[in-house]
Amino acid sequence: MTGKKEKASEKREKRLQEISLLRTIPYSDHQRWWSEETIAIVTGANRGIGFEIAKQLAGHGLTVILTSRDTSVGIEAAKVLQEGGFNVDVHQLDILHEESISEFTKWIKEKYDGVDILVNNAGVNYNLVSGNSMEYAKQMIETNYFGTKNMIKAMIPLMRPSAAGARIVNVSSRLGKLNGRRSRIEDEALREKLSNLETLSEELIDNMVSTFLQQVEADTWQSGGWPQKFTDYAVSKLAVNLYSMLMAKQLSERPEGEKIYINCYCPGWVRTAMTSWSGNVSAEHAADTGVWLALLPNEAVTGKLFAERRELKV
Ligand code: NDP
Repeated sequence: MTGKKEKASEKREKRLQEISLLRTIPYSDHQRWWSEETIAIVTGANRGIGFEIAKQLAGHGLTVILTSRDTSVGIEAAKVLQEGGFNVDVHQLDILHEESISEFTKWIKEKYDGVDILVNNAGVNYNLVSGNSMEYAKQMIETNYFGTKNMIKAMIPLMRPSAAGARIVNVSSRLGKLNGRRSRIEDEALREKLSNLETLSEELIDNMVSTFLQQVEADTWQSGGWPQKFTDYAVSKLAVNLYSMLMAKQLSERPEGEKIYINCYCPGWVRTAMTSWSGNVSAEHAADTGVWLALLPNEAVTGKLFAERRELKV
């Protein structure tokens, strides 16, 4: 290992230890704004990071709705948590399908009459197997960006007013940074527009992903100035990060008591099916920042990207 790499690895190891320590400190009574009446939805929670987020939130005493696109797999996953004594309910949810989202929305409204926390965890990445192939680019953009966006749109009207504010946490990636080392959008004018909250818009983000997909279709994406690594995945997560910034701005205009805070985080390189278990952190550790963001006491943090409980610049 080179000196630089060694140092980075030592730094990461140290941070992992700090986080493990932080997780052992219980929330005091005055920090706990939630109870078992607090409803937290986790998408893609049948396995991996989503399952861990569901488990940790339930461990903090919330009622967790574990969702899974495959009903029977979801029921099995929920059973593990229910048998551990946690308050966990389960429902089918495929974020790619409008009918599934609307069926779920109807169910949650009827059964719980609202939501307090939404964790958008469901996502796909096929790059490990196929290098930087664009074979699955459309599916990746549809799931990671449009699926997440559609869930946010469906759940916002159900989010309950509270002094602590409702929360949306998106499991995203540092690959989706506008100015990342390996994930920089080369078009300076576009980068400028996307990074400025005055010029950022849903249309601009949607146009960016559709331009990308058109170039994939025409096989011209290589010269499009897109992120170099895991290109389609990086574009999908960039869109998620930008949409969260945009929503944070809009949601901050809501009156006190009706606020909704929305943030993204990068869980690191995680040992899950997505990385063929080649990651360097456990799903348990990867869930931590998401759970922390979902439960932040008395802090109106919104529109940010985090990793290891620290803010990163999009
Ligand atoms: P897994 O592949 O283990 O889990 C992904 C989950 O998403 C599964 O439950 C999967 O369901 C679900 N999912 C996929 N598509 C849909 C859909 N259309 N509707 C509903 N659920 C769906 O991956 P991870 O746990 O590692 O990843 C979780 C999140 O973390 C993703 O958003 C990912 O992009 C992000 N992330 C992961 C990193 C890593 O190193 N692992 C790094 C950075 C970000 P099913 O079981 O049915 O396939």
